[in-house]
Amino acid sequence: MRVLGIETTCDETAAAVVASGDDGRGVILSNEVFSQIAEHAGYGGVVPEIAARAHVEAIDRLIARALRAADVTLDQVDGIAAAAGPGLIGGLLVGLTTAKTLALVARKPLIAVNHLEAHALTPRLTDEVAFPYLLLLASGGHTQLVAVRGVGDHIRLGTTIDDALGEAFDKVAKLLGLAYPGGPEVEREARRGDPERFALPRPMMGRPKPDFSLSGLKTALRIEAEKVAPLTGTDIADLCAGFQAAVVDVIEDRTRVALRDFRERVGRPTALVAAGGVAANGAIRDALARLAGEAGLRLVAPPLPLCGDNGAIIAWAGLERLRLGLTDDMTAAARPRWPLAELEAAPPAS
Ligand code: ATP
Ligand code: FE
Ligand code: MG
Repeated sequence: MRVLGIETTCDETAAAVVASGDDGRGVILSNEVFSQIAEHAGYGGVVPEIAARAHVEAIDRLIARALRAADVTLDQVDGIAAAAGPGLIGGLLVGLTTAKTLALVARKPLIAVNHLEAHALTPRLTDEVAFPYLLLLASGGHTQLVAVRGVGDHIRLGTTIDDALGEAFDKVAKLLGLAYPGGPEVEREARRGDPERFALPRPMMGRPKPDFSLSGLKTALRIEAEKVAPLTGTDIADLCAGFQAAVVDVIEDRTRVALRDFRERVGRPTALVAAGGVAANGAIRDALARLAGEAGLRLVAPPLPLCGDNGAIIAWAGLERLRLGLTDDMTAAARPRWPLAELEAAPPAS
């Protein structure tokens, strides 16, 4: 089984072909990504109008490239998947309309994929991970701890009440004059900084429900930065190290609480899974590996190139749904807001 996947939720235009392997995992036949980072870099964030236009300009070329690199024609794929949300409406419409058109023309099933579920199912593309597992999804737009019980069957245990983790990294970077996206920059600076020079808060730590709050941490960092301004290279490195250390502590604490909730509500997880762009962070990965070890669980983190947004994760989620018969028709709508809990669940295994 082969699925073409299209991703246009934010600032990556991407297309990929993924096939089902013999062992239940997937095989990535192609994965073409055009990142619009350069287009948005001057604004310190993604500009929706610029993103939508860039998707329109790039999408045809990327799909053609993905099919060519996979050495398949449209006739040879079994389904066409597009991320239908959550995300920026302009991009969603470009990707979903393109997928519908291709599905109609080639007479193939359409799969309208939830972008969050795509991140949630990605570990099953590269590893043999059985349901249920605990997922920490941490990206530029989302920060959630989710019990993944099956395709379309998720319980959100905790979420951020303000900024997403990736967003916090991006805002801190901007504040310190570092480039966008901020995550990799902050991590690089943190490596040579002193995490203890600035005393930064650990918001939400110790709370009984595994939610996050990051805006206060960002504000505390700004206040510390203002105290020592103008910033030297050392100041920037120390601020980054302090920020990252605070984030690591918070993530470790929140994930530990989510594990406890998981055991109470779902049972024993098969693994702890980290997904989304922030999962690329080495210090965060190390903390999660420690925590998983403590709980006698395996930490599964998709390979770095699959942590961010790309077509392969959409194609894979499409494939997981297609093989369960969960397809969509031409009335499928683009949904800027689409919580995981509102997904259509797979029929229970008989
Ligand atoms: P969505 O939230 O819809 O999934 P997104 O494009 O924001 O979309 P990703 O592409 O998964 O999400 O991740 C991008 C985010 O990850 C950015 O905020 C970026 O700063 C952050 N990020 C990337 N690398 C690192 C890193 N090494 N450390 C911390 N954060 C990182
Ligand atoms: Fe994403
Ligand atoms: Mg992105």
